[in-house]
Amino acid sequence: MLHARLEAVYNDIVRRNRGETEFHQAVQEVLESIGPALDKHPEYAEHKIVERICEPERMVTFRVPWEDDRGEVHVNRGFRVEFNSALGPYKGGLRFHPSVYQGIVKFLGFEQIFKNALTGLPIGGGKGGADFDPKGRSDREIMRFCQSFMTELHRHIGEHTDVPAGDIGVGGREIGYLFGQYKRITNRYETGVLTGKHLSFGGAEVRTEATGYGCAYFVREMLAARGESFEGKQVVVSGSGNVATYGMEKVHQLGGTVVACSDSTGYVYDENGIDVGLVKQIKEVERERISAYADRRPGSKFVERGAVWEVPCQVAMPSATQNELTAEDAATLIANGCMAVGEGANMPATPEAIQVFREAGVAFGPGKAANAGGVATSALEMQQNASRETWSFERTERRLEAIMKDLHDRCYATAEEYGVPGDYVAGANIAGFTSVADTTLRLGL
Ligand code: GLU
Repeated sequence: MLHARLEAVYNDIVRRNRGETEFHQAVQEVLESIGPALDKHPEYAEHKIVERICEPERMVTFRVPWEDDRGEVHVNRGFRVEFNSALGPYKGGLRFHPSVYQGIVKFLGFEQIFKNALTGLPIGGGKGGADFDPKGRSDREIMRFCQSFMTELHRHIGEHTDVPAGDIGVGGREIGYLFGQYKRITNRYETGVLTGKHLSFGGAEVRTEATGYGCAYFVREMLAARGESFEGKQVVVSGSGNVATYGMEKVHQLGGTVVACSDSTGYVYDENGIDVGLVKQIKEVERERISAYADRRPGSKFVERGAVWEVPCQVAMPSATQNELTAEDAATLIANGCMAVGEGANMPATPEAIQVFREAGVAFGPGKAANAGGVATSALEMQQNASRETWSFERTERRLEAIMKDLHDRCYATAEEYGVPGDYVAGANIAGFTSVADTTLRLGL
């Protein structure tokens, strides 16, 4: 339910951002939560803070021409939304996926504002990407695409301006090609301009693992708040990319057992616990389908095109992509005893699914809180780049763990303060929003 004044604001946003359904969805979710904050702070309405935060500061769209290995020329579309810089330089990943268009980039950029605010670190919100499909492309093709993409993007970014990183389709390899081109064009060894870099050129320990590890830590805290732990729990993770892989690794370290994970072709079930090393080998090294797991691991099975949410578990960590978990999936999970959900991906549960979880009293950690460990560690990478220091794996992981605990506690306390105890969606939205809103007021119009 929307606050009366917010209803008009939301309708206006839908009208002015026609067809951008994912963006509408992300805005609606935040606006539905922040009514109590507006009641408490009349100055937000007076200064049109909601309207100002929902409008990107800048949106760049550009042509990305490139040549494939056969000499054929292709043209893709590149994007960068510089959404909000109240708290620091724009910060957020780049997504290379055929589904990318302005509405996806804006939903991700909007989420990023509040996620970054929740980390407590000085980073604003941004996001970018291209409608490029890296599937089946050779290493040389990926390199040429990244070079062309950066040939335009470099004008808009900088260590104090806008600092991109990875997201779906953009990992360490792509960041390397992007950084190489930025350095070539600008003649600056400006390591702080991108995060997610390899350790050999200014990268940080734990950045690769951080989103998945952080999500597992967040779920551990949600469980602890209910007097529970991962010990003896069966866990289902969707996806098998970077977030899923390291989420599974940390769940195992924390005493849980991940029994299933997936990719776009189906899921694998392994009652003895997913062998994370094998998933890494198949997805990261061989870049193969997840079905290869069942061929190599006796006792496991591959279910083609099945929904991973039909596997019974007490904890679910959707870590693939937006709107991958429906109300029906949520009902199935609850019927099978699921008590906690941590979103490793951005907006993987539909609004209807979230409603089902809430009504059933499931602990639900929204992506902007549960997956904030990735961008938080990016901010630690920026900190190390600025001071020309390199921290150890242990030191960095301790920081990440502390950040995730603080973040959990802040969402929890905010939900209590606003009279919705245990509601992490409201807690995260209100805490993230009020940080940005108060700073926006201080900085003037
Ligand atoms: N793409 C990641 C996210 O959704 C990380 C962004 C970053 O490290 O800047 O938060």
